[in-house]
Amino acid sequence: MRLTEHFRIYFRALKMIFNWDRTFALCWTVGAVLSAGTPYVPIYFSAKLVDGLYLGAELRTIIIYAALAVGMVFVFKVVETYISSLRDKCYGAIYRQEEWQYSQKAMSMAYESTESQEVALLRSRIRMESQTGYNSWWTYYSVEECCKNITQIVCSISMTISFFVLPSVPLALKLGLVIMLAITIIVSILTTQRGQILTEAYYADAVHINIFCKKYEDYILDYSASKDIRLYHMTDSITGLIGETEGEMNQKGLKLAKQKILLSFPNVVLNHALKYATYLVLIVGAIAGAVSIGSIAQYVSCIMLLLTAVSELARVVQIALNNNHYLKRYFSYFDIPNDMYKGSLTVEKRDDVEYYVEFRNVSFKYPGTDTYALRNINMKFKIGEKLAVVGMNGSGKTTFIKLMCRLYDPTEGEILLNGVNIQKYDYDEYMSIFSVTFQDFAMFGFSLGQNVAASKVFDGEKVTACLKKVGLDKFLEALPKGLDTCLYKSFDKDGVEISGGEAQKIALARALYKDAPFIILDEPTAALDPVSEYEVYSKFNEIAGDKTAIYISHRLASCRFCDKIAVFHEGRIIQQGTHEDLLAEDNGKYCELWNAQAQYYVV
Ligand code: ADP
Repeated sequence: MRLTEHFRIYFRALKMIFNWDRTFALCWTVGAVLSAGTPYVPIYFSAKLVDGLYLGAELRTIIIYAALAVGMVFVFKVVETYISSLRDKCYGAIYRQEEWQYSQKAMSMAYESTESQEVALLRSRIRMESQTGYNSWWTYYSVEECCKNITQIVCSISMTISFFVLPSVPLALKLGLVIMLAITIIVSILTTQRGQILTEAYYADAVHINIFCKKYEDYILDYSASKDIRLYHMTDSITGLIGETEGEMNQKGLKLAKQKILLSFPNVVLNHALKYATYLVLIVGAIAGAVSIGSIAQYVSCIMLLLTAVSELARVVQIALNNNHYLKRYFSYFDIPNDMYKGSLTVEKRDDVEYYVEFRNVSFKYPGTDTYALRNINMKFKIGEKLAVVGMNGSGKTTFIKLMCRLYDPTEGEILLNGVNIQKYDYDEYMSIFSVTFQDFAMFGFSLGQNVAASKVFDGEKVTACLKKVGLDKFLEALPKGLDTCLYKSFDKDGVEISGGEAQKIALARALYKDAPFIILDEPTAALDPVSEYEVYSKFNEIAGDKTAIYISHRLASCRFCDKIAVFHEGRIIQQGTHEDLLAEDNGKYCELWNAQAQYYVV
C-alpha cells in the first residue's frame, strides 16, 4: 500500500470514529497527554529536591518543591480519572454504534451482494479480524499511544537537552552517548517492526482458522443440524476438526512466542548497556562538577523514558500501518455499492391495479457463474391473470421470479412495468407492488401478528382475516395469547413451536396482508398435508382476488386453476397456454410431466 493511501485510510477512520462520538475522541486524546506527562512532574521536582537538600537550600523552598510535586500529580491524576470515567461511559454506546453500522449495511445491501460468497467471506473476515486484534478501535488506540509517546519524547528531550549542551562534559563522551542512544533506538525500531510483521502473519492465519472453527461450532450449536449430527454420529468428526485447527494455531502461537523472545534479546542487552553508559557519563560529569547529584536521576530516567517512547512509537506506527490493511478491507465492505437504488421514477399507484409486466429477451447468469440460468425469456402478463410456472428442478422458475422482483437485474434484455424498464423505478417503490412467498421464507421469533404483518405494529382484524383465508383460524383460536403469541421460544419462554405446514400458511398470510397488486407464490404448498393443500388450491382464486398472481408449483394438478401455464425447461420457456392447450400437445414437456405425476394417482 502506498503512503498516500495509508494516510487516506487512516484519516477516514479517524473521521469515522470522531463522528461516532466527539467527546469520546477528545477524552481519549487529552487523557493520553496527561497520563504521559504526569511521571515527569515527580522526576523534575525530585531532582530539585535532592539538589536543594544537598546544597542546603531553605526549608521553605524544599517544602514548596515537595508540595508542588505532590499537588500537581494529584491534580493531574484527578483530571485523568475524571476523563477516563467519561471515556468508559461512552464505550458501550460506541460499540453499539459500530454494530448498528454493520446491521444497516447488511440491510441496505443489494440482494445480489447478500448472496455473494465473496461478500460473505469479506464480512466474516473483517468480523473475525476485529476479534484477533485489528479493528477500527485500533485507530483510537493508535491516536492515544501516539499522543502519549510524543508527549513523552518532547518531555524527555526538553529535560535532557541541558546535559548535552554542558561545556564541561567532554564532547567525545556526549557524542558516544548520542551514538549509543541512536543505535539502541534503531535496533529497537527494527526488532519491533519485525515482531509486528510476524504477529500480522500469525493473525492473518488465525482469521481463516477462526472462520472454519466458527462454522464448525455453528453446526454444533444450530439445533436444526443437531438431529443429523446425532443420528449419523458426526460429533467426533466435527469436534475432531475443531481440535485439529485449534492445535495447528497453538503450534503457530508457540513458534511466534519463541521468535519474539529471540527478537527482544538484543533490545534488553542494548537497553542495559545504555543505562550503565549514561550513569558512567553522568558520574564523570558530576566528578567534574558539571552535573548536580539530583540531575543524575533526572537524566537517566528521562533518557530511559525517551528510549521506551521511541520504540513504542515505532511499534504503534507499525501496528497502525498493518491495521490500515484491515481498515481497507473494512471500508471496502461498507463501500460495496447498491446499484439497485439508481432509479428514481415513482410507481404509479393505480386504483384499477392496471399494471403489466413484460419480459423482453431476458437472459441471466448468476454472478460468478458462466452458465445461463435463464435464456431468451419473452413473456407478458395481463392484469388479473393467474399464471402458473411449472418445470423440473433447476429449470429457472425461482430465478424468473427473482428477476421480476428485481432481486437481480437481467444480464441481457429488459423487464418492463407498464412499458418502462423496471431499473428506472425507485427500488423500494417497485418492491412495494409485489407480495412474494419464496420456498425458503423466513419466520421470526416475534408474535404471530408481527410475523404476518412483517412489522412491529399490526392491524389485528386484518391479520385475523388473512389467517382465516389461509385456513389458520382454528390454529389462532388455540393460541394462549392470540395474535400476541410468540412463534418459537427465542424471545418468550411461552412461545409456540409451529409445524412446517403452519409456517407455510403463515407465510401465505403475510403475502396476503401486504395486499400488493402482484402476488407470487413459489411452491406454496410444499410443506402442506394433502387436505391443506387441497384447501389452498381450491381457495387460490379467492386468495388471489383480482390481483395478478404467479404460482410456481411441481404439482401440475394445482395449475389447472390458472389462466395460463408457462413450462420452463433448462432456463427457457418451452411451452405456454392453458392446461387444456398444453395437454393437447402430446409430445410436449407438460404432457410428459402430467402423465408422470398422474400414474401415481391411478389405482
Ligand atoms: P427452479 O426454481 O426451477 O428449481 P432455480 O431458478 O432455483 O430453479 O435455478 C435455476 C438454475 O440456477 C439452477 O441451475 C441453479 O443451480 C442455478 N442457481 C440458482 N440459484 C443460484 C445462485 N444463487 N447462484 C448460482 N446459481 C444459482
